[in-house]
Amino acid sequence: MKAHDGMYIGGQWRPAAGPDTIAVVNPADEQVIAHVPAGTADDVDAAVRAAREAFPAWAATPPAERAARIAALRDVLVARKDEIAETVTAELGAPLALSRTVHAGVPVLVAGSYAELAASYSFEERIGNSTVLLEPVGVVGAITPWNYPLHQVVAKVAPALAAGCTVVLKPAEDTPLTAQLFAEAIHEAGLPAGVFNLVTGLGPVAGQALAAHEGVDLVSFTGSTAVGRQIGATAGAAVKRVALELGGKSANVILPSADLAKAVSVGIANVMSNSGQTCSAWTRMLVHRNQYDEALALAAAAVAKYVPGERVGPLVNAKQQKRVRGYIEKGLAEGARLVAGGPEAPHETGYYVSPTVFADVTWDMTIAQEEIFGPVLSILKYEDEEDALRIANGTVYGLAGAVWAADEAEAVAFARRMDTGQVDINGGRFNPLAPFGGYKQSGVGRELGPHGLSEYLQTKSLQF
Ligand code: NAD
Repeated sequence: MKAHDGMYIGGQWRPAAGPDTIAVVNPADEQVIAHVPAGTADDVDAAVRAAREAFPAWAATPPAERAARIAALRDVLVARKDEIAETVTAELGAPLALSRTVHAGVPVLVAGSYAELAASYSFEERIGNSTVLLEPVGVVGAITPWNYPLHQVVAKVAPALAAGCTVVLKPAEDTPLTAQLFAEAIHEAGLPAGVFNLVTGLGPVAGQALAAHEGVDLVSFTGSTAVGRQIGATAGAAVKRVALELGGKSANVILPSADLAKAVSVGIANVMSNSGQTCSAWTRMLVHRNQYDEALALAAAAVAKYVPGERVGPLVNAKQQKRVRGYIEKGLAEGARLVAGGPEAPHETGYYVSPTVFADVTWDMTIAQEEIFGPVLSILKYEDEEDALRIANGTVYGLAGAVWAADEAEAVAFARRMDTGQVDINGGRFNPLAPFGGYKQSGVGRELGPHGLSEYLQTKSLQF
């Protein structure tokens, strides 16, 4: 695949400071498809300087003009949709249909929403005898994961630009080619030099240098809880703003009155999509004990349609494949029962894992507590509503979830009692304007919509 051998800094592709490179591997066939430069602290420093230099003019650019540039970015993402989808498929392994609809499609919606929000948002408000100015925070250091290579980038960069911030992005080492395409799109859309900068590189090197850089005012991170904790500590020590979007172990609560067949089949689709590499995936299905056996039969039938290499892609790399297979073994060792799948890899080549469904899972088992990040579903039995609520809320996470019931009001009443940031009622429908983010250890801050925009603003009050 086509790859740039430099960093996008100050509006141009510049040679990297050091000689090291990172190999990009196609997880479906394990072939190296490109190399990108492995950034160092020097590259990060150059990028932060460029972002700092560009900040005053971009912050002073009228919101309507910022909106026009973000709309132009959206249009480039639309025009280059096929190329984006093919690139995501090549470096993440996602089936092309998923890359087209979700990986290339959702960022268009998100960028479009911020083009509109930048134009309509009130960057000034009156409270009593004060005028409150909502001003951009400054230079944003964005560190993103590989699971949704473009969405994770756009969900940070679009609101930051709408707010008047400038950005340095350090994308995941597994999916840098999509990030390079995004930098090309920024350039094509005519964003001023230095407003967006890209440094590819390893997390502990380039990522760490970005999080610790004193020229960065806000660090926005999405990824593992372990790294998030570290970034939070670094940011806390420097008293800089931080947003963390971390893991999840979301509950899909099927109340007895629900349409069981629909709830189970949508629940399976939700977990298997993107090979289970979704932080908001409903990885715990909660079913009433009277409907448990029926739900298992429905789940077994539904999961059979998810054939590895067709509807389900590989995991992103060998490490993740090993990790997920390890969780399946752990589930068996702790007494859970396989309804489908298992630890054996379905193909010799490619980092595939069999779509796996476990029954007889209790709330405290490792597979019901830790984020697996693979195509693995645990089905848990509950006695009554209070028991369902205890199980749903019984993890350190609180990112997403679902509730199903015949009566919408019944589902909403249950959702109100869940300790989680987002709940889909009877299947829900993606809303690019709805805030997304975690309760408890799933994170700090929100992405998307006006709430996502406000993360990149700070307030100044003037009293009269
Ligand atoms: P990770 O947290 O290591 O990587 C996420 C990003 O952080 C990448 O860009 C990486 O380069 C960077 N990074 C890594 N170490 C860093 C450091 N010390 N300082 C600064 N940046 C650093 O995640 P991973 O190892 O790729 O995946 C491991 C697990 O994380 C997954 O199995 C999953 O449970 C979780 N995960 C969650 C999400 C999510 O969307 N919440 C996304 C990816 C992974």
